[in-house]
Formats: sequence, structure tokens, C-alpha cells
Amino acid sequence: MEPPFLVKTPEPRYFMEDHCANCLTNLPDAVVGPYCSTWCAEVSGHVRYMRAVLRDGRIEDPLVRTAIQTRGAFLLIGGYRSLGRTVSAARREEVKKRDAGLCQECGNPGTDIDHVSGSSDALGNLQLLCGDCHRAKTAEQMTEATPERVALLQALFLSRVAPDEPRLLADDETQWADVWKGLQAARKARFIARLDAAGIRGRSRSRIDLASDLAVSERQAERDLERAAEVRSAVGTDTFFDDLMRRV
Ligand SMILES: [Zn+2]
Ligand SMILES: [Zn+2]
Repeated sequence: MEPPFLVKTPEPRYFMEDHCANCLTNLPDAVVGPYCSTWCAEVSGHVRYMRAVLRDGRIEDPLVRTAIQTRGAFLLIGGYRSLGRTVSAARREEVKKRDAGLCQECGNPGTDIDHVSGSSDALGNLQLLCGDCHRAKTAEQMTEATPERVALLQALFLSRVAPDEPRLLADDETQWADVWKGLQAARKARFIARLDAAGIRGRSRSRIDLASDLAVSERQAERDLERAAEVRSAVGTDTFFDDLMRRV
């Protein structure tokens, strides 16, 4: 799942209700946050961060420059989430125990949980590494950045970071932190109104309440998206909501 990196915006500060704040694809109803994917959340956050540090002078700080390079490099290989930073505490302990606390590359004490390949959290796909070996592996993966992605990152800078006027509402580093929760609340209200209009109560509704009460993690949103995609391909409906309707 990789939505378009760049968005052609017909007007500055563009935003569409119930569409991803970064790539403007239609959001399935099961997605509670403002982005269609963790990828879009990362791209959007990167844009705002670069806009902010370029304009408030922090860009002169070598540490900030390093942070930008690191984030950019992660984006080039598909986002830092792809490096598996979201393994649960229980699963981390399982891996440490199985690997006897030792780096599986060099045998020194291990500190980092590494995904052997891909993003599966299955025990067989996880291993313990020391910081040095993990960084070496990450650096190796970064060389996999395709020329297309490098070009896209440059285009992202030119079209969304450099212009003084933000192209997307989500690019506005001074406003977004204040507005996105309101936009999300409005989205939830629209969804509940649709459930009400369809006469759906109880289970479905509490699912949405629960999700937003827990400030549903991006991870959960990702699973919901996968579920929505499954539903789409299995029953040929356009949205998760349609499937919900069908089953009630
Ligand atoms: Zn998106
Ligand atoms: Zn090691």
C-alpha cells in the first residue's frame, strides 16, 4: 500500500473532508485519524518539521540537520515504521529471552529488536541486535532507495516545503496541531450521523467511540485499513461502511 507521494493541489491550503490530509485519497470509514496510512502521516510530519525549522532558524543546528537527513532517509526506504519500531513490549521480551540477550550478528549484548525482513511481528521474523549491527543493517537498507523515491523527496521539498504559503492544510506547521483534532472530531460526528441514519446502534457505534477514546494508534488504523481492503476485495463494496450496512 503506497499512496501517491505528491499531491497536485488546485489551490493553496487544500483540504477535503474525509480524505487523507496528505494524499487526498478517500479515507475508509474505519480509519479514525487524518491520514490513510502511516506513510502519509510520516510524509506530512516531515513536511511540517522541515517547514518549521527552515523558518525559525533551527536549520542552523547540526543536530536538526542530522534529524532531517535521518527522517528523509527513512522515508526513502518506505518510512521509519517499516523498520519495525512498533513491536509490543511483551513481544520484545519474548525475543530477548529467546536470543539470550545477545546480538544475533556479533554476539555482543543486544539492545534492538530487528525485523529480519518485511514488517511481520511474528517471532520468527524478529531478532535481537546490538546498536552497531542494527545501524549497519539500516544503512544497508537505505541504499535500496530507488532513484524515483529520491526524485520524489526532492519534488516534495520544492512543492511543499519551499513555498511560503502551505499547499495543503496539513502542511501548515503553525496551524495543523490545533486544527486536526477538530477535523477528526467532525469526521467522527459525520460517521455517527450516518450510522444513526442507517439505524445502526450499539456494537458499531461503540467500536468508533472506543477507537477515538483510545486515540486509536496508527497501527490500529493500519489494521483497519487492511481489513477494509480485504472487505473491498471480498465483497466488492466500496467502503468498510457498506460492508457494515450489509451485515446489520
Ligand atoms: Zn494518504
Ligand atoms: Zn552486533
